[in-house]
Amino acid sequence: MSAPASDLSMDGERDALRARLIARIRADGPMSVGAYMAEALHDPRAGFYATRDPLTAGADFVTAPMVSQMFGELLGLWAVQAWLDLDGPQPLHLVELGPGTGAMMADVLRAARVHPPILSASLVTLVETSPALEAVQAKTLSRAPIAIRTARALDAVGPGASLILANEFLDCLPIRQIVRAQGVWRERVVALDPSEPERLAFALSPGPAPTILTDALPAHLADAHDGALVEIRLAQEPVLDALAARFADHPGHALFIDYGPADTVLGDTLQALAANDKVDPLANPGGADLTARVDFGALARMARAKGLDVHGPVEQGGWLKGLGLEARAAALMQSQPEAKQKLAAQVYRLTDPSQMGALFKVLCVSSPGAPTPPGFPAQEATS
Ligand code: SAH
Repeated sequence: MSAPASDLSMDGERDALRARLIARIRADGPMSVGAYMAEALHDPRAGFYATRDPLTAGADFVTAPMVSQMFGELLGLWAVQAWLDLDGPQPLHLVELGPGTGAMMADVLRAARVHPPILSASLVTLVETSPALEAVQAKTLSRAPIAIRTARALDAVGPGASLILANEFLDCLPIRQIVRAQGVWRERVVALDPSEPERLAFALSPGPAPTILTDALPAHLADAHDGALVEIRLAQEPVLDALAARFADHPGHALFIDYGPADTVLGDTLQALAANDKVDPLANPGGADLTARVDFGALARMARAKGLDVHGPVEQGGWLKGLGLEARAAALMQSQPEAKQKLAAQVYRLTDPSQMGALFKVLCVSSPGAPTPPGFPAQEATS
């Protein structure tokens, strides 16, 4: 059977993207890993997110909202409690960064119906860069109880109190990589393979890494051993700047849920997934999801340096249980006895340390002095 025409034309677009990347490297020299990620994910004609829905039928990867409706429902209850704790500000900007299919926001809004005043107070905005996913979100949320707006970036969301949700959003923001070589930090870049000049290959840039990268190193890694690799996600800074600007004038919380360690560790974690398989990140730009683990230590340090409060990171499993995941599962099992096994498997997937329970962390960035957000220990509030 031959591939459908749309698949064939996408193959052509991805070939053209690869040719553009090769031409750019030939003309300007190697590109940073971050610049490569940005092109491969967001190129308007061939970018992985720009051109497809990687989360539904024939998915390339699976995220918590796609594992279970209970995930978004608990975030909805979290939002209700957090809003009440902020004394119910009106309007409330309820924002999601990188909403994928829109399934999580649908679950959030359904659960928020337990307290209708939050729905009357809320202005919902989905912050999304991908036109393909924006169309999927509009369809998923066509019957949402309130109007949904869209924006390309957080700073386009109007002023006011806010609750901001972001699941698996930070992991796809571009990273850069630096490697310690003979006592000097150098940048790992995407170049052309010297023996096969039509092939992309990783290389080390000859000079020292730019100070914008080495300045971001935590003190304990400044003199790491030769061969050490550190990933730096400069791209999260504009997100935190937008939060700092919002939270300077209006209260709020931004909840980041993602995979990664609680503090900076060494190692290359750039990974490419296509059809749920790990593939070579340079083999097929546009054809695979590119992500790297989130460094929650670096995220927390950057947020605090901007004067924001930080709660966590805590592990996803314990956090979801603390919010009542098991009680929600028990209620659903009672109303749908035939789904008992399926629901138990979802709880296991979301919470067991061998699954998503420990690798995934939850970190809340809050306006200075805001009440402790639900699910986090009170004594952990630090700024
Ligand atoms: N949160 C969803 C989807 C995760 S995939 C879920 O958990 O299922 C990452 C999402 O972030 C996609 O919707 C992608 O298009 C979006 N995205 C990636 N980079 C972005 C950026 N810079 N700004 C806004 N959205 C972005």
